[in-house]
Amino acid sequence: MTNSSNTKLVDSWNREIDYLRIAVTDRCNLRCFYCMPAEGIDYLPKKELLSYEEIIRLATVFASLGVKKIRLTGGEPFLRKDFISLLRNLKRISGIEAVHITTNGVLTAPYLNQMKDIGVDGVNLSLDSLNRENFHKITRRNEFDTVMETLDGLTHHGFNTKINMVVMHGKNTHEVIGMAQLASDREISVRFIEEMPFNGSNMSTSQKNWSHMRILEELKGAFPSLKKLNSDPSNPASLYQVEGHVGNLGIIPAYSRTFCGACNRIRLTATGTIKNCLYDEGVLDIKALMRSNATDDQLREMLMETVQKREKDGFAAERNRKVDKNISESMSSIGG
Ligand code: SAM
Ligand code: SF4
Repeated sequence: MTNSSNTKLVDSWNREIDYLRIAVTDRCNLRCFYCMPAEGIDYLPKKELLSYEEIIRLATVFASLGVKKIRLTGGEPFLRKDFISLLRNLKRISGIEAVHITTNGVLTAPYLNQMKDIGVDGVNLSLDSLNRENFHKITRRNEFDTVMETLDGLTHHGFNTKINMVVMHGKNTHEVIGMAQLASDREISVRFIEEMPFNGSNMSTSQKNWSHMRILEELKGAFPSLKKLNSDPSNPASLYQVEGHVGNLGIIPAYSRTFCGACNRIRLTATGTIKNCLYDEGVLDIKALMRSNATDDQLREMLMETVQKREKDGFAAERNRKVDKNISESMSSIGG
């Protein structure tokens, strides 16, 4: 039996896992073309999603294994009924020091006061364009103004806010500098993310054209004072500062995968499957275990065993995919 008080999740490459990302739903109210096909994906029947009780139980088990930070994502997490109650209960779990959210910002603004009261530790807002028409083209929905209101609300309430922009050749690369300017007078981090192939189809992506290096060149060209900042090695973003800007900039080599050596994260998909790596196919059906009456100790044992199977990096994880070799998953069921 596992001694839960001092057991940690450490993989066979000696990486300690203390960060859990949970996709609370696979449903979404946008159709960002890099994430989902226009017609959407086949959503799971509701009973296939983890219940809030199951999520809280798992988060508690993870906390007993040394997980300190949780990020709630999706799909769009605010589409899940009474999402605020889930936030509140996660914040109460002993050992969980930080609860963060990634959201598209469409339904978020009305909840900012409650999120502040609960003590949500940070919000990542996805925003790929500052142009209404281009936003519509990318997300296939006309929600630009609502999302900008959310951005204003987040900064107004003093949330630790990060903007996520997926950089896509020919789609929004002309907006990289404008987006970076958002950090000139706002205390936010604007992060540029390489596009990954998780778009819910076998459609190829444009990530090869805009690697992290090209994004950096673009930023350096516009901001000669750009300086690299020190950051936590487990942070996938390389951070930069433009002289005189209040906020900072980040570049995430999500496709080039240069950060795997210090990876500290594990994922729980909307289907209740554990992923050791974004690029693997799912390594443990923990929902099935819970629904067949596994005890907390059994869940802990299984999780400890599962992290031992973690590949060295995202390339190895991708190579070892068996069924969906050419990645046709949508990021909305994995959670990003
Ligand atoms: N719906 C929420 C949102 O968009 O913020 C949360 C879920 S979304 C899947 C989480 C993050 O994954 C977003 O920042 C999104 O931009 C990013 N993402 C989705 N598909 C991606 C892809 N193919 N490549 C890179 N990032 C992607
Ligand atoms: Fe929805 Fe987020 Fe995917 Fe866009 S990136 S379709 S907002 S889940």
